[in-house]
Amino acid sequence: MKRLVYLDNAATTPLHPDALQAMLPYLGDRFGNPSAAYRLGAEAGKAVEGARKKVAQALHCRPTEVVFTSGGTESINAAIKGVAEAQRLARVGNHVVTSAVEHHAVLHSCQYLERFGFEVTYVPVDRQGLVDPDAVARAVNERTVLVSVMTANNEVGVIQPVAEIAAAVRERARQIRRRIPFHTDAVQAANALDLSVDALGVDLLSLSSHKFRGPKGSGVLYIRRGVPFLSQIDGGGQERQRRAGTENVAGIVGTAVALDLAQRSREAYARHCRRLRDRLIDGVMAATPGIELNGHTEARLPNNASLAFEGADARELVRLLDEEGIACSAGAACGTQVVEPSHVLMAMGATLERAVSTLRFSLSMETSDEDIDRLLAALPGAVERARRERETAGTLTPAG
Ligand code: PLP
Repeated sequence: MKRLVYLDNAATTPLHPDALQAMLPYLGDRFGNPSAAYRLGAEAGKAVEGARKKVAQALHCRPTEVVFTSGGTESINAAIKGVAEAQRLARVGNHVVTSAVEHHAVLHSCQYLERFGFEVTYVPVDRQGLVDPDAVARAVNERTVLVSVMTANNEVGVIQPVAEIAAAVRERARQIRRRIPFHTDAVQAANALDLSVDALGVDLLSLSSHKFRGPKGSGVLYIRRGVPFLSQIDGGGQERQRRAGTENVAGIVGTAVALDLAQRSREAYARHCRRLRDRLIDGVMAATPGIELNGHTEARLPNNASLAFEGADARELVRLLDEEGIACSAGAACGTQVVEPSHVLMAMGATLERAVSTLRFSLSMETSDEDIDRLLAALPGAVERARRERETAGTLTPAG
């Protein structure tokens, strides 16, 4: 068996050995409930509070502003629904602003709010996938209770100018004498970007541990002090009434270790990934005709290459590469005749053809030159085969 070439780090990453080591005692004999009054419980509680401090250092915020959750999806749901509902309860308004290229955790949370009478503005992006700060500010009105724009896109890796967007929203809010909380989905950002909440200018920020070599089922929600927030999970008073339920002690401890490591090594990570990613893009384009890069060339995560292989079905390419021991992902879910194109690529003005022929390669610190060599050797043949198969399969129609 060939060694697996893992190029799907945007989907998930392997647990860091240091995170695993830190977690193990809490999966073993340090199993206490952090709320318990005896020493075994206090020990677990101390571990949770130590982890909270470490996360706060990484985000440059107060420990009390850190809430541990079950992952990115929960953090995002809590941020959007928690702020929107608290603001409506206080009769502040019922309008939310977000972008068209957000993860479904954001978009579906917004759609949930729409079912309960909220209005949502989905700000479009340009062909490179960028959100215009002025367009976001223009979408804000007297009834706006929350703005949510992602830090970096999971499909095309485009990095949004979050600090500029947040500043534009603050200025607009000042003009209309409002204070409008700003949330960012930073789930894809932790390995390569600075997560200082003040530099980003954000009031809420969501993270998912398994994207930065922490454990699955664990996440972080930063909530700036004073931001209106209604808990979405009610029960015991854990996490200062913002997220009830007995803490996932091992997950929390692993999250803190992994986040600290990721934030400390982001420059080396960016250098390493960028060099290999550029080798990948240049090599693929030189070897095979008809290939295009999706998303902004500069404002993108250093580990992301989103490439459209026109005339090939991306799902078939994923299958063919998997046979060669290479793992990557398709930009769209599609059958042979019916296609569910990626909302991100479609919002960027891509054709259906481009959307369904897009592959995402996402690298990591563990990616080697040999991995890229393996991909560059396997891809031309796979593309040729997939293109031939598509030619015989006929035309595509969007799913309706
Ligand atoms: N937001 C972005 C940008 C993501 O990439 C993901 C995961 O793919 C999520 C949110 C949801 O994170 P999780 O599935 O870990 O809850």
